[in-house]
Parts: sequence; C-alpha cells; structure tokens
Amino acid sequence: MDTYAFVKDRLYCPGPTPVPHASAVAALQTNVYHRTDAFREKFLYARKLLGTFFGSSEAPLILTSSGTGAMEAAMVNLTNPKDHILVLNGGKFGERWAKLGSAYQCEITAYEFPWGESPNIDRITELLRAHPDIKAVFLQANETSTGVAYPIKSIAAAIRAVSKAYIVVDAISALIAHNLPMDELHLDCLLTGSQKGFGIPPGLAFIALSDRAWLNLSSRPKFYFDLKKEREGQAKGETAWTPATTLIESLIPSLEILTKLGPDACEKHHARLAIACQKAATAMGLNLFSKAHHSHALTAIELPNGMDGSKLLKYCRVRFGTVFAGGQDHLKGKIIRLAHLGVVDELDLLAGIAALEMGLKKLGHSSKLGVGIGAAMESLNASE
Ligand SMILES: *Cc1c(COP(=O)(O)O)cnc(C)c1O
Repeated sequence: MDTYAFVKDRLYCPGPTPVPHASAVAALQTNVYHRTDAFREKFLYARKLLGTFFGSSEAPLILTSSGTGAMEAAMVNLTNPKDHILVLNGGKFGERWAKLGSAYQCEITAYEFPWGESPNIDRITELLRAHPDIKAVFLQANETSTGVAYPIKSIAAAIRAVSKAYIVVDAISALIAHNLPMDELHLDCLLTGSQKGFGIPPGLAFIALSDRAWLNLSSRPKFYFDLKKEREGQAKGETAWTPATTLIESLIPSLEILTKLGPDACEKHHARLAIACQKAATAMGLNLFSKAHHSHALTAIELPNGMDGSKLLKYCRVRFGTVFAGGQDHLKGKIIRLAHLGVVDELDLLAGIAALEMGLKKLGHSSKLGVGIGAAMESLNASE
C-alpha cells in the first residue's frame, strides 16, 4: 500500500509506548563509560526520581532486563524452594507468576478467576485463612491481557488483616497510569519495566522491596539477579553488571517530564484518557471487555460479532500506522486493546480512536463515523 507513504508509526499497544522526543535524543549518547563519577551521578539521580513513583522509603533498584526479569528477581529473592505461595491469576500475566513459581519449585495455590474480572477479595482472605503457611502473594496491579486494574489498596489491606505473607505486585503496565505508593499500601515488592508507563524503549526493569523483605531474603542460589548485591552497589551508583547506559540516559528526560506532574496528577491524567476511551467504545456500540475496575493504562474492547480482529489490526496498521494490540490466547481476534499509557496526550488518544473508528467502518461496522471520537472529545472537554 504505497499510497500511504506519509503515514507515521503510532503506538497504541500496552508496551512499548511512545518515546518522548527528549528521551529519544538522549538515547543517542553512546560513548558512555559506566564506572565514572559522571555516570554514577546520573544513575543515582534516575533512581531518586523513580522513587517518587514507587512511594518507597528506599529508591528502587534498576536492573538491565525486560519487566519479566524483575518478576524473576522477585521470585528468586523472596522465595525458597517448597515455599507455599498464592498466585492471583486472571489473565496472561497472572499465569506468568504461576509459571515462574513452578519453575522455581514453589508450592503453588492458584486462585484463578475469569479473564475480564477482578479477584474476589473474600476469596483471597478465605484462601489465606485456609493455608496459614502461605509465604507470599503474587499478583498484578493491572492485568494487561484483559484491561482490568485490580483494587490494590483494598486487596493489600485484606491480605494484611489475615496474613503476614509478602505482597508482591507486578505493576509493569500499571505504574504511572495508577498511583501505587508502596509503603503506604504496605506492599513488600513493587516492580515494573521501562517500556510501559515510563515511555522509553524496553530493556530496563525497576524493583523495590519493603524493609521486612530486605531482612528476610531467600537463601536459594542466585547470580545475575542477586538483589542484596545490587542494593549494596547501587547505593553508590554502581551496578553489578554493565548497565544499559543508553537507556539510563533516555530514562532521565522522561522521568523529568513525569515528575513535573507527580504520581497523583499522572494517575488523574491517565484516568481521564481512559474514561474518554471507554465512552468512545460505548458510543460506537461496542462493549468493554473489562467488567469492572477498568484500567487507566489501556482499554480492552470487544469487537462486533463476526469481525476478524486480525484484519482490523492489519488494516489500521497499514492504512494509519496505528499499532493496537489484539487479544491473547482464547481472545485472539475477539478484542482490541488500545493503550493510553506513558507520555501520551489527548490528541494521541483521539488519533487512535479516529483510526479505530474508520477501520471498524471499513470492515463493515455500522456505527456512524465520528460518534466515537465525538464522545471522547465531549468527555475530555467536560473533565478539564
Ligand atoms: C508487559 C508486561 C509484562 C512483561 O514485561 P516484559 O517487559 O515483556 O518482560 C509483565 N506483566 C505485565 C502486567 C505486563 O504488562
């Protein structure tokens, strides 16, 4: 389709998210040696700014890996083989906690609930009461495969009321879109990756632990992800291994943009975009896939019956350069996931909705062009 030579690439997938210009330029710094005072200073500055968004007394550690590396680091450093853990599994990423736990020989109680739903808090309490030996609870803050944000505050409070288990939260797609001050919420581990809310390319992961978790680390063998060793070095700006220097350079401008707003305002901004997107979907006659607790980071939308989701994704990508995500596993072809996460503004969202609306029309959906984007504009105007 060379008719569309001027089309720009626009990311609406839940990671990677659009990279702000200043971060893209900063990533071009290639002649950087990491064992220097200049780099150590930058590294410590990045950790300090990250701390604002973790709400942790101690600044998070920066690891060179994708987000899953931080999930593995949490599993390896907080559990021993045969430890009993509870995994909340309501989608593709909940499943990943179960797979990780089993790879590291934990005894797993999995609480599985239907995709699109949020966990039942009484059920969590019941499981913890029935299994007082559970040492840690692993969950997502935002299940990216379904567009559901779990109510972490209430879940953490319910866990705390009946158990001493560690609360380990994968906030890879949640942070920035959702404010999760870990100390205030009494979480023991909060982790995320660089290519989602923080709006830089993939390759860094961030992780913070609570004081009590630091005092009771696992005794299992570990090497690359030895958090105790990282903590000692990173206090002085030194990483155990060669850090992804270009990504650290890239991270700083993005953190500076985000800290201008701070975690509360970032959450409000993303909530506004999410509501506008939900209104657009409904106005186009489509249902949201998430049944409650709609994510601020992305909106999962059910496609009209009989429409081939992969055709829609392809049409939008070729015609408009917009990259949406489809459904995973049994939802393949049935839903579309539109992310409004990271350093994105109102017009970014409106462009995505416009492309989706035109694509839907092209593939035979009957709603009148402009109803979706109109509803989103009304919503944004009303919530200024
Ligand atoms: C993206 C994502 C991951 C995986 O992160 P990678 O960087 O791909 O390893 C894990 N959990 C959630 C909730 C995610 O959104």
